[in-house]
Amino acid sequence: MARAFRLPYQPVVAHLIPTRRCNLACAYCSEYDQSSDPVPAPVLERRVGALAALGTGIVTMSGGEPLLHPDLDAIIGRVRGLGMMATVITNGYPLTRDRIARLNRAGLDHLQISIDNVTPDQVSRKSLAVLDEKLQLLARWAEFDVTVNATVGGEAASPEDALVIARRASRSGSRRRPASSTIAAARCGP
Ligand code: SF4
Repeated sequence: MARAFRLPYQPVVAHLIPTRRCNLACAYCSEYDQSSDPVPAPVLERRVGALAALGTGIVTMSGGEPLLHPDLDAIIGRVRGLGMMATVITNGYPLTRDRIARLNRAGLDHLQISIDNVTPDQVSRKSLAVLDEKLQLLARWAEFDVTVNATVGGEAASPEDALVIARRASRSGSRRRPASSTIAAARCGP
């Protein structure tokens, strides 16, 4: 964190998109497809090097679903090796105990898992009913910080779901690393 604020004029946070491919298809999203190849690792390494040269403090990897990139752990390691913080935004579906252990070893600083509703609907399948087991895995095995983010659409059928998710998030941290939660409001259409 100290590096992020070391200089008066430098990028504090940069988003790196290692792949646009996603395993889901949320109705409000235009930032994914199901056909793109992952950005080659040498290209990502050059971009990480350029961000480091600019004095960037934090590199956030999103997508698409960044955990689908086969070389993500190496890219995280490269980010950390160049003195920047590494964070990931994920829909959580690819998380397993082994995948969390690999993120620990890579040196990940922070993970944001997106949970939009309690049960899957036609807008989003990033649902507590599906992802609760992932929160349990993170609480048990993650050595990085975790934030749960809920995006509530203006036409959401059950906006009160955000409160249920926030309450669940408040119980999902470990004693060593308490989890935090954020609620993002989005409005689709007029
Ligand atoms: S999981 Fe994320 S990237 Fe994938 S479709 Fe949903 S919002 Fe878009």
